[in-house]
Amino acid sequence: MIFKPTYILKSVTEISADFMAEKNLKGLILDLDNTLTTHNNPHPAEKVTDWIDKMKSIGIKMMIVSNNNSQRVTPFAKNLGLDFVANGKKPLSTGFNKAQEIMNIPFSEIAIVGDQIFTDILGANLKRVRTIYVHPIELESTFFFKIKRFLEKPFLKGF
Ligand SMILES: [Mg+2]
Repeated sequence: MIFKPTYILKSVTEISADFMAEKNLKGLILDLDNTLTTHNNPHPAEKVTDWIDKMKSIGIKMMIVSNNNSQRVTPFAKNLGLDFVANGKKPLSTGFNKAQEIMNIPFSEIAIVGDQIFTDILGANLKRVRTIYVHPIELESTFFFKIKRFLEKPFLKGF
C-alpha cells in the first residue's frame, strides 16, 4: 500500500543498533521538521543528539532530506554533523536520489524516516524504499496541517 509505512515507531530515538542490524539497514534518510525537532526549532529534540552520535559510532550513514529551505536546514544539519539536502521536494525522488548518491549504499539498505505520510512515506514507497514512520513530535495547529493529520489516520491504524 502506497501510503503505509514499513515500520512505525514513536520517535527516531527508538531506532536502535539491534533494529538496524535485524532489518539489514546501513543508512537512514532523515526528515527534519517534527522528526528531529519541532517546526522552526533550531535545537534537536531531547535525546536526538545522543542518538545521532550513537548511530554514527556504529557506522550508520545518515543524511537529512527536508522540504524546508536551506536557511532552515543548513545550520541544523551542520550542528549535528550531518550531510543534507534542502528543498528536497518530497514526495518526488530528487532529494532521496541525491542523498543516496552521497551515502553510496544501495536503497535496499536505507530506510527513509519521517513524520508525514503524504511526503516522507509516499515518496519512499514510490521508490520501493523501506520507511520508518515516527510520530510527529508536536501536533501542528494550522488548519492545513490538521486536515493532513486527519487524512493520515487510516494509514496508521492500530498505532
Ligand atoms: Mg516532517
